[in-house]
Amino acid sequence: MTEPIRIELPTMYGMKSVNAYLFLIPELTLIDCGEKTDATWDALQAALTVYDLAIKDIKRVIITHAHVDHIGMAGRIVAESGARVWVNEYCYDWAVNTEALWKRRIAMMEKHILGDMPKDGEGATFSKMLRSFFGAVLNAWDALPAEKVTTFPMEGSLEMGGTTWDIIYAPGHTNMQTCFYQKEKKWLIGADMLLSITPTPVIEFSLTDPEKRENGLAEMLQSYQKMLDLDIETVFPGHYEPFSNHRKLIQNQLRRIHLRKEATYQLIEDGKHRFYELFDVLYTNRLNMPGMSMLRGYLDLLIDEKRIEERIEDGYTAYRIAAIL
Ligand SMILES: [Zn+2]
Repeated sequence: MTEPIRIELPTMYGMKSVNAYLFLIPELTLIDCGEKTDATWDALQAALTVYDLAIKDIKRVIITHAHVDHIGMAGRIVAESGARVWVNEYCYDWAVNTEALWKRRIAMMEKHILGDMPKDGEGATFSKMLRSFFGAVLNAWDALPAEKVTTFPMEGSLEMGGTTWDIIYAPGHTNMQTCFYQKEKKWLIGADMLLSITPTPVIEFSLTDPEKRENGLAEMLQSYQKMLDLDIETVFPGHYEPFSNHRKLIQNQLRRIHLRKEATYQLIEDGKHRFYELFDVLYTNRLNMPGMSMLRGYLDLLIDEKRIEERIEDGYTAYRIAAIL
């Protein structure tokens, strides 16, 4: 068996690049594929040329999670090569009904973040930012023809690169994310679960009830525990360089999450009660989505711990220190 070959591709996101991984045997397989842009296409093509191959030779694309920087190019690759795209069961709808699901996610974000912001000023600016950002996402992501999509289960195994990989469900960053683990070599294709920077939980609807919001950060904490239990030699992450010593990285990220959660609690105790007021203090740049997702997560954790309460006051959501019973 051979190590996954890392291909670094450009992305519109702040991370600057996203990784695809290549297996040359037994059939040309790509894990994740970047966004649908000419820059990504050229980078992919250049990486394949090294092996005397072209995009039309790709037989299989396997997706870790249906976010634009990981799946966006899949449609164009299918059109060029006739490749099959493998997605996990929870990604299937995102893969084939992309636009409809994006609309639903926008609605969820507006309800849970915009709903708490003043309608003029930063609320209006944020609303505009959301719309233009989502336009850019759909531009870089084609829905896939259903007949080209194969689904794989959330648990079990996949054959890739001439060996068997365990499928590991790792919700948190998104509730539809899978990692792949190769036991003998102790390799983990980690998607956006294990990154050198703390992954952020995307605000999204629940798998069981589309009207409800997923508690992403709490799920991420559980997935970290799952990752701590794995014996990993090398992590092949969705962004940045492969690394080892994943347990130390996780401990650092857990510590930071804990500190930020406590800082949020302290601010509420000190008299900040609205989402955007808390955000203003915790993050210097108000309008950034990762920060907003993290704050949403800290509040969720504090509510779960019954240390704060969420209430509607004067038409806005307010966070208050929970009364001691
Ligand atoms: Zn990503």
